[in-house]
Amino acid sequence: MLDPTEPATNELGAWDRDHLFHPSTHMAQHARGETPNRVIVGAEGVYIVDREGRRSLDAFAGLYCVNVGYGRKSIAEAIARQAATLPYYHAYAGHGTEPSIRLAKMIVERAPAGMSRVFFGLSGSDANETNLKLVWYFNNVLGRPEKKKIISRWRGYHGSGVMTGSLTGLAAFHNQFDLPKAPILHTEAPYYYRRADRNMGEEAFSQHCADRLEALIQAEGPQTIAAFIGEPMLGTGGIVPPPAGYWPKIQAVLKRHDILLIADEVITAFGRLGSMFGAGHYGIEADLITVAKGLTSAYAPLSGVIVSEKIWRVLEQGSDEYGPIGHGWTYSSHPLCAAAGVANLELVDELDLVANARTVGAYFKGALSDAVGGQRCVGEVRGEGLLAAIELVRDKDDRVFFDASEKVGPRVAAALLAHGVIARAMPQGDILGFAPPLCLTRQEADTVVDATRKAIAQVMAER
Ligand code: PMP
Repeated sequence: MLDPTEPATNELGAWDRDHLFHPSTHMAQHARGETPNRVIVGAEGVYIVDREGRRSLDAFAGLYCVNVGYGRKSIAEAIARQAATLPYYHAYAGHGTEPSIRLAKMIVERAPAGMSRVFFGLSGSDANETNLKLVWYFNNVLGRPEKKKIISRWRGYHGSGVMTGSLTGLAAFHNQFDLPKAPILHTEAPYYYRRADRNMGEEAFSQHCADRLEALIQAEGPQTIAAFIGEPMLGTGGIVPPPAGYWPKIQAVLKRHDILLIADEVITAFGRLGSMFGAGHYGIEADLITVAKGLTSAYAPLSGVIVSEKIWRVLEQGSDEYGPIGHGWTYSSHPLCAAAGVANLELVDELDLVANARTVGAYFKGALSDAVGGQRCVGEVRGEGLLAAIELVRDKDDRVFFDASEKVGPRVAAALLAHGVIARAMPQGDILGFAPPLCLTRQEADTVVDATRKAIAQVMAER
């Protein structure tokens, strides 16, 4: 264990540059030592501490995942107890372990009505891979082998595997790897702020998105489309709440053409929007729900696919025909991760974090709007619960982004970090994202708002 008060040596940094292959990192710059090499050694509440002893308020909860905050002893102890009792046994062929059974029950009890079973994985990406296979299996059982295409949305984020990277609708996840692969298609993002016709109201824009979806379905042939996947609120693609009426209009189109709906709730499940699930928040009736991050608050890696009764009945029928399902991971239902999940969901209830996300989230968004919303460079302050974003633009009246070469988003995030707060420069456009732990207090929200105001002013003054 590294001591955060110990003076930094360059040794660890050198080993890091020479041996560790980081995700989402400019490899050459990192190897040359040109990118930050911050080693985090501890954390408590909403703060993380690095090797140099610097504290930062983590207003992105790691990667939108440490929902209960850092340093929760009850979760650490649950993992330790489980490791001492039974570190692992597989879940194949009907085998089980106590925490995974308990956790599946707790998830279904909290999920929207009509949900029935949980299949566990380790990441949001693998859970969405499971979703695709279940949808294809479903249509095979029903004798519709041609109904296999999946529609996702531009700016959606669903993972970075081969198929899930294809579902993701962000250029950087496609261009470098010859993605997307068939049979994945994309439709328009429900990004109201960036609608082409500024005179269009929210309901009309939602109808326009539903019409675009329906036109794509008609062009491809409804008999070839199996499912639509979407985050209740767009996450990595810009943190964009859906415009009014969006989900009911989309759902009506899907029902008309007998197309399944996968709600990717990797970010939104377990309270992030101020409701237990994003599906409940927006009245979405999903056939499959993806969960991960907030399921264990990232104390251990765990994801899940929540399967509705409607899908489950067909899956059961399929196994009578095909035999055991040809799908599973060694670490499906891993007991250490499930023990973390049980302790985490207990804590979410005990601390009433869903309500806290709702009330402190509303306070935070209001305070952000008051502090920076009126500035010419702030196009929009948006969000729901404790998921919020500021869209930075050259001129709020014409919604023009800054030139990408100016790197305004990353510079504001860097200035914010210098003021002791971590937010995220989102990958496409100058968008500053916030997803703090759901235990955030109003005082901590004030700290984030104050630092954000200073960081934006500083970067604008430097331009
Ligand atoms: N779906 C959504 C909505 C996500 O936000 C993410 C990760 N940010 C994923 C899927 C993929 O999860 P993972 O990185 O755990 O594979």
